Amino acid sequence: MQPILVNPCSYKSLETVLDTIVAKTEKQWVAIGCDGLPFSLCSKMIENYFICPHCNESFTKKVQFINHINQENLDIEIENCKKYKNILLIPGMGHIDINNTKALFKLRG
Ligand SMILES: [Zn+2]
Repeated sequence: MQPILVNPCSYKSLETVLDTIVAKTEKQWVAIGCDGLPFSLCSKMIENYFICPHCNESFTKKVQFINHINQENLDIEIENCKKYKNILLIPGMGHIDINNTKALFKLRG
């Protein structure tokens, strides 16, 4: 897969990354390795991004989605409506490696 050239430090750019990965894989589950800020933002997105199966409207906060299904009187399983329910985040040590490398080069210089 080609790199997705966005700075992965905002919900908007991470949404682009996750949507592209999900669209390009044909597997039921997608494991994505990441760490640092992207990891914590993606974890929040997985928990809070919902799509209403009734009207296809997107929500970025669980409270908003719960209000919506209550207003519409929908009898649906909330967990099944998570936009990224099939993504498994694998935390990595990338930032620790980068910081170790930086520290070593500082010590040498
Ligand atoms: Zn709806």
